[in-house]
Amino acid sequence: MSNFKFCKRCLYSNNHPLNLTFDDQGLCSGCRVHDEKNTLDWSLRWNKLESLVSEYRTNDGNYDCIVPVTAGQDSYYIMHIVKNKLGMKPLMVTYNKYFNTPVGIHNLANLRMKFNSDLLIKNVNPISVKKIIKKTLLDFGNIYWANIAGQSVFPVEIAIKYKIPLIIWGAHQGVEQVGMFSHENEVEMTRRYRKTHDLFGYEADDLLTTFDGLDESDIWQYRYPDNQDIRKVGIRGIYLSNYVCWDPLSQHMKMVREYKYKTANLNRTFDIYDYIDCYNYADIHDFLKLCKHGYSKVTDHVCREIRHNRITRENGKFLIKKYELNPISYQKQFLDYIGMTERGLNFILDYHRNTDYWTNPEHNGWEFSGLSSKWGTNDTKQLASSAPDQKFGKNFQASHAVNLGQNDSYIIIGKGFP
Ligand SMILES: [Zn+2]
Repeated sequence: MSNFKFCKRCLYSNNHPLNLTFDDQGLCSGCRVHDEKNTLDWSLRWNKLESLVSEYRTNDGNYDCIVPVTAGQDSYYIMHIVKNKLGMKPLMVTYNKYFNTPVGIHNLANLRMKFNSDLLIKNVNPISVKKIIKKTLLDFGNIYWANIAGQSVFPVEIAIKYKIPLIIWGAHQGVEQVGMFSHENEVEMTRRYRKTHDLFGYEADDLLTTFDGLDESDIWQYRYPDNQDIRKVGIRGIYLSNYVCWDPLSQHMKMVREYKYKTANLNRTFDIYDYIDCYNYADIHDFLKLCKHGYSKVTDHVCREIRHNRITRENGKFLIKKYELNPISYQKQFLDYIGMTERGLNFILDYHRNTDYWTNPEHNGWEFSGLSSKWGTNDTKQLASSAPDQKFGKNFQASHAVNLGQNDSYIIIGKGFP
């Protein structure tokens, strides 16, 4: 792509993998839909949510709904709304991604106790998981296919088995990040969105036809249930962000105050709340995003904070420059887990570097020419003086390190806390 266009308000460009559109004033669809947060009648929308969920309350001892959790991201806030505000009886479900951090496992244990709710954990056999991760890393430059497929299939599978028709998710990424839909569309979970946007077009069965060395026993756990089974139970998955004015930072800060959610520092973004349950999401997975798409998670966090008016666009540029080229911190753990050499990984990283964003002059090492280098005439001195103010910084002071002072190694089973 040669014509890069940036939103006049946030720092997303027309290269966003979920597709952004721009209006005639140069604002992106994500910013436009974000503006609905200031204009919609949220008490009316809350009433809609209450009446929607009231149809699903059971008095027969079964659970009222399923809440998929990771213990990072919005898990605490979803439970806060579902259990404590709506007064429902949820069954939490989580897919074990195996890259668990101590702080993530702590937050997961604490989540169960603070909300006095049951949790089902799916542990897919690690041999198949590793095989899939290796294949998708090599071909897609992505180590997260199995995790995303697992965490999107497992809740639906359990909904069928336990006959619990309502699944409650937090934010819809297509709405929150890129404004693919209005909040008023009240979009729900679909098989198609999952395949196209979450799994980049590859269902479990597509892996069989794409890769040698994988067979039925490796992929069946990731297969989305049949439409017939879904219809029989009447399963639907709703997103709270269509009914509650969504602001991840203030939500997280509330969760820290009220439920003792632990926060932690990450090396490649300033956010201390979102992905601290995983050693790889904001680390090697994020670096792969930079290789392929020319920007990384810190840009997502920056755009979110610009839209919520907590930083300026210039502050945002400063933060992106500060974090996006920071090194991967947990490469060794990943290589040991997956059984790969550093050389092998570097070969794959290089293979996935998009030459729109990376150059390698005379093979003397890679130079980054990603989206932050295409902002136009930006004085580096000026950028260096555009740090956000202290008030903003106070929102992102972590209470812990991801390892809670232990060795940095994956918590595979998830026992031991607290
Ligand atoms: Zn924008």
